[in-house]
Amino acid sequence: MEISQLQCAHEEHYGVQPTVIAFAPGRINLIGEHTDYNGGFVMPAAIDRGIWVTASVTDGPTSLWSSITGDGVTFDARTVEPGSVDGWASYAAGMAWVLRDPIGNCPNIVGTVHSNLPMGSGVSSSAAMEMVFGQIWAALADKKLDPKQLAILGQKCENKFVGVNCGVMDQMASSCGREGNAVFIDTRTLEIQLAPIPKDLSIVLCDTKKPRALTDSAYNERRSQCEAASSVLGVKELRDANMEMLLDAKPNLDPIVFRRARHVITENSRTLEFQIALANNDREAMQALLRGSHTSLRDDYEVSCFELDAMAEAALTSPGCVGARMTGAGFGGACVALVETQWVLEFGESASAAYKAKTDIDPEIIACKPVKGAHILWQA
Ligand code: ADP
Ligand code: MG
Repeated sequence: MEISQLQCAHEEHYGVQPTVIAFAPGRINLIGEHTDYNGGFVMPAAIDRGIWVTASVTDGPTSLWSSITGDGVTFDARTVEPGSVDGWASYAAGMAWVLRDPIGNCPNIVGTVHSNLPMGSGVSSSAAMEMVFGQIWAALADKKLDPKQLAILGQKCENKFVGVNCGVMDQMASSCGREGNAVFIDTRTLEIQLAPIPKDLSIVLCDTKKPRALTDSAYNERRSQCEAASSVLGVKELRDANMEMLLDAKPNLDPIVFRRARHVITENSRTLEFQIALANNDREAMQALLRGSHTSLRDDYEVSCFELDAMAEAALTSPGCVGARMTGAGFGGACVALVETQWVLEFGESASAAYKAKTDIDPEIIACKPVKGAHILWQA
């Protein structure tokens, strides 16, 4: 969105000019799924869709309006505590709460929220909300926060204020993304290695339009199964286990817990291998690894669904497709495909038609550019 458009929207709503405007991207995960809460490896890219926020300081309470939800919310940023704000405002309020420790009380603001990021489709609009408000409040306090520190604070906001027990991948991707690159992240050390996307490859988001039923319960169940496996294996986190250890422990593991752990262990290996395959632009290896990831998420981790399987299949049989798999937490949402750039249009038409024929749902296919992470766009 243009800065002038954003300034106008702010003035229309509040009768004053904004003093700061920030942007935070969504993210798409290439590989490394359900590994971040196991201390493992992930490889997301920040994408050229995200959330813009305009803000100016006010004497009254904080008042926010979202173009997506079409409604306004108010709270006092100086006094919010977990449990005192819910709904979509909790992402903004939660950031004011987590920032109190490193930067002190956040000022109250009036602000507008604009987005071109699908919500609940696995491209992490929640982390984009956290990172964009983190940027806004840090800028108004005249404080510079390291992007990694902001990501950790965002995860704390989502875990402790919003009440979603997520790992750190989404916030790291939205905060630390780099133009033209995916980022390989070791979620234990938060070390980042850039992974340039070859110029002739495009990252394509294939949204199934099946609303994600990420039942918190299924997600939390997977997390406790991973913890159960770690405890039988005698490791801190599944990051520290390998297949040999898992096979040795098989007699002592519940069969479902065994399969959950097998997914995490093999997914970590695939992510490490994918980093090399991408660097070498080795298409055969990329295809095999993405396929392996999808199969493992479907059969061992059991987080796929009919629509995600249909979309992965539709993508794989479409022109120029190097590889495809479900992305995000699962139970609906989107697939990611790597597509030869020259075939992107034909790919989109073919994948849409094949998916619709199978599911009777019109999907949305979006070619994404990897962009830099959350930042201030403009400040008075
Ligand atoms: P995801 O992160 O995969 O998009 P989540 O369920 O984690 O899905 O987060 C989606 C929630 O984030 C929405 O239900 C809403 O509360 C909030 N949200 C995201 N984008 C916006 C927006 N533009 N305006 C208001 N709330 C938003
Ligand atoms: Mg989310």
